[in-house]
Amino acid sequence: MNADLTVIISKKLLKAILKHARLLYPKETIFLLRGEKSEKQIRISELIVPPLATYGHGFANIPTHMLPIDFSIIGTAHSHPSGTLVPSPADLNHLWGSILMIVAFPFKDDKCAAVYNYKGEKLTLKVT
Ligand SMILES: [Zn+2]
Repeated sequence: MNADLTVIISKKLLKAILKHARLLYPKETIFLLRGEKSEKQIRISELIVPPLATYGHGFANIPTHMLPIDFSIIGTAHSHPSGTLVPSPADLNHLWGSILMIVAFPFKDDKCAAVYNYKGEKLTLKVT
């Protein structure tokens, strides 16, 4: 995993994340991301609403021990109602999978989304 990894997401999926984030605002929304990982890129193919997620209490509250072992889960996405695109120390401590996507208020377009690796390094997000 390095910082020149590119993360690819379709417009449609990104829109779905942003829309869900708007609907739950001012609470946080959380998704698991399913996708395909190769050496240089990760392509996000599907969103999964985590079972038993406690909305509004941050992403640390996903009971990961209750999740099925699923190696196609490549990371998570959650919203920051505060508007910041920077991952918090708690976000990085609880990173699940390879990537962490953050969408920030006002959840309008791809400028409201950022993706990081487990070290907190920002990765290139390509919307197709
Ligand atoms: Zn966060």
